[in-house]
Amino acid sequence: MRTHSIAIIGAGPAGYFAAQALQTLQTEQLKFKIDMIERLPTPWGLVRSGVAPDHPKIKSVSKVFEKIATTEGFRLFGNVELGKDISLSELEEIYDAVVIATGSSVGRKLGIPGEDLANSISAAQFVPWYNAHPDFKDLEVDLSGRVAVVIGAGNVAIDVARMLALDPKELDPTDTAQYALEQLHKSAIRQVHLFGRRGAEHAAFTSPELRELPKLEFTDVFFDEGEISAAQQRASSTGELPRDLKTNLEAMAAISKADKKGVDRRLSLHFLSTPLEIRGQGRVEEIVFGINEVKGGKVVATGKTKSIKCDLVISAISYQCLELPGLVYESGKVKNTDGRIDQSNSYVVGWAKRGPTGVIGTNKSDSSEVIKLLISNLKSPKKGLDLRKILNSRKITFVSQKGWEQINNAEVAAGEVLGKPRVKITDKQEMLGFAG
Ligand code: NAP
Repeated sequence: MRTHSIAIIGAGPAGYFAAQALQTLQTEQLKFKIDMIERLPTPWGLVRSGVAPDHPKIKSVSKVFEKIATTEGFRLFGNVELGKDISLSELEEIYDAVVIATGSSVGRKLGIPGEDLANSISAAQFVPWYNAHPDFKDLEVDLSGRVAVVIGAGNVAIDVARMLALDPKELDPTDTAQYALEQLHKSAIRQVHLFGRRGAEHAAFTSPELRELPKLEFTDVFFDEGEISAAQQRASSTGELPRDLKTNLEAMAAISKADKKGVDRRLSLHFLSTPLEIRGQGRVEEIVFGINEVKGGKVVATGKTKSIKCDLVISAISYQCLELPGLVYESGKVKNTDGRIDQSNSYVVGWAKRGPTGVIGTNKSDSSEVIKLLISNLKSPKKGLDLRKILNSRKITFVSQKGWEQINNAEVAAGEVLGKPRVKITDKQEMLGFAG
């Protein structure tokens, strides 16, 4: 029997699904010891700090992660940072293979004048802020104005727009960060405008996210009926519509025609608008858009502009990788061939490999393919040093699976008394205290 040691860097969905693939592909002759290394004291990546708090069902995948983590041969090393506490070359030396699963955490920039004004922020900051990520708990978000603009026509933009537009009492039974919930309760924002730069037929939303918008109890949602029917005509003029696009456009059309509740919280979604400039004296006051049209199937600028007075701008225009030492990046992703990094014993999975696309489940097949490639390239097992001993010798406090379970239990217990799934701890030292 051969036992190979594999390090997985990053405890998000792609990392757990890589571990699951290793566990599934074990045989009597081939076993794996898996060490998962995570920068934060807490695992689960975007399931903890990305998924919107009002989407608890999506978070139930964490049960799968915990099953993987409590399977024999798996160890968690939380609070250990690649490049600071241990280098990639050291890990490549110790382990038979290393899997990078560090995601894409940096928000893409609009690259327009005024983007750096106060209260112009990226969804890459705002989302982890409302999700209690320790690195973003002190983000300055001013919700004292009435109008917010969200840029982008993807699911992150929808999440952000919904979080700003809903009545925060809908968030009371969720695990939204306590500080964010308090601020959202005081929020004066009543109008949220989301802008996509192309047509409704090009939007990256998925239908379940669209279909839940009219279910918001205290918010009216608006699409322009003419804009959506023009998009439907353009899209169907080229032949039969793909099923996803058809259901997306139908969901938008249904909302555009639906009766409104007449409440003061409004979420309006607009298309064919490219942000050109954010204006204001030191802080956001107005945003200017170039108006586009679709001509011959292409989105082109009309040369006309429009502007809207606003108090907050959040751009949700996709992500790129935070560059880590020892890795080469290309187009915002780790340079790789089918997941393998430069003929080495290192591999990459998830958003760090393919870019920020797909839903959580997409990572399952993606990680599984890379792990099959990894296994096919394995040589004789090494007798590497034990990571636990190395970290101890460096006096690095790491969080084991048991330590994480103690943090988890403390959060769940704090939530129970308030009728919430958990109250997330936001201070790293406090987390380490619970982890013992
Ligand atoms: P996304 O789906 O790629 O959408 C990005 C949006 O930003 C697109 O509409 C894009 O427009 C727009 N954009 C890009 N550059 C722009 C610019 N310079 N100016 C204006 N608009 C610009 O990315 P995402 O929303 O960050 O989501 C990432 C992934 O996570 C997606 O696969 C998404 O489905 C997934 N996700 C899923 C859920 C869920 O299942 N509930 C929730 C959140 C995220 P163009 O198309 O014109 O480039």
